[in-house]
Amino acid sequence: MPKGWMRDKERIACCYRSYYKMTIAPTKEGNAVVTTCWNNIFRPEDRVIIKENIKDAWNSKEFRFQRKLISRGDWGFCKGASCAFDPFRREDKFLDYSEVKNAIAAKKDSLEYGPKLIAIIPSHGCNCDCYSCFQAPMKNNRIKYSLKDNLLKEIEETIIPSAENVIISGGEPFFTQQSRSFISWIVSNHPDKHVAINTNGSLLHEYGLDKIMGSNFFLTIAVYGMNANTYQTVTKRNIFDIVFRNIRTLIDCRYKRMQVAFLLTEKSSHDTEKFCEFIAGNEGMNGLVRNNWYEGTKFWGLMHRLEEKYADISFRLKFEYQNEAPFKVICRRLYNPIHSFKYLVQNSYND
Ligand code: SF4
Ligand code: SF4
Repeated sequence: MPKGWMRDKERIACCYRSYYKMTIAPTKEGNAVVTTCWNNIFRPEDRVIIKENIKDAWNSKEFRFQRKLISRGDWGFCKGASCAFDPFRREDKFLDYSEVKNAIAAKKDSLEYGPKLIAIIPSHGCNCDCYSCFQAPMKNNRIKYSLKDNLLKEIEETIIPSAENVIISGGEPFFTQQSRSFISWIVSNHPDKHVAINTNGSLLHEYGLDKIMGSNFFLTIAVYGMNANTYQTVTKRNIFDIVFRNIRTLIDCRYKRMQVAFLLTEKSSHDTEKFCEFIAGNEGMNGLVRNNWYEGTKFWGLMHRLEEKYADISFRLKFEYQNEAPFKVICRRLYNPIHSFKYLVQNSYND
């Protein structure tokens, strides 16, 4: 049984993301923060800051050390992480790839193949200003957090070709011209790749709904309320009509490669049932109810009640229970320096 702090040790024992996944996000200077997973990005020793040669991050000291630990059954580098997104079943297929399977079996720390799954934030820029945004600390400077052109070019040339799946999010990925161009580049040059885009849905018409429907995207459209008032309160923008007009157009055109995700916050909780009704009333549409993780378990009761009530459409209406309540964050911060020190010593020893 692997060591490490996790609610479900069986699940963590199956997590081999370091062998197939790379996540890339911009720093304020436009450099790239590269990790194997968003969930453990808070830990300095799990991430690499790259100015150029982003491909080298894949076999960097930090990534190799994670693989060494995994081959010893030690997931200590994930200690304190919230694996709330339950990536394991969705990503099972990567463990069946012969290169990945063989590398794990041979306990390799340096890999000859590139990442199979890339999650990338080209820019944190966004047209909204949600009070619940987990990127709130950078809200006054969001647009500065955009990957430099040379890094995006490197990603296009050296990282994307080996990947089968690409996830693009933000900020709002259709907000900056640079991010839109990046999306268009992937669509034109790699029509065979699975591309998933997480968007707030308010700029889809500007990018072009026809263009979207003619491409290989899978869209997750986040919605923040079920009427204009709630939207204004949460996002501070008057975009309810635009978002739902875009969604309605996609539904009417029978666009299947999408899901709509409702963010349940204390300012939108009263709209949650209406969202469930919306999904129930649109056959073929997939929906997701996800609570604001900074509000902890506050609305889990409501979610459980609705999950039971809409059990007959559970195959297309899912519930994601998140919990990053302040208590958990504080515990992690207290624990972090001790663990980081131990990790540093161990890592130097292994060099
Ligand atoms: S934080 Fe969780 S999901 Fe991420 S690599 Fe660790 S165990 Fe896997
Ligand atoms: S739409 Fe998303 S990225 Fe933009 S401010 Fe709201 S939560 Fe943040």
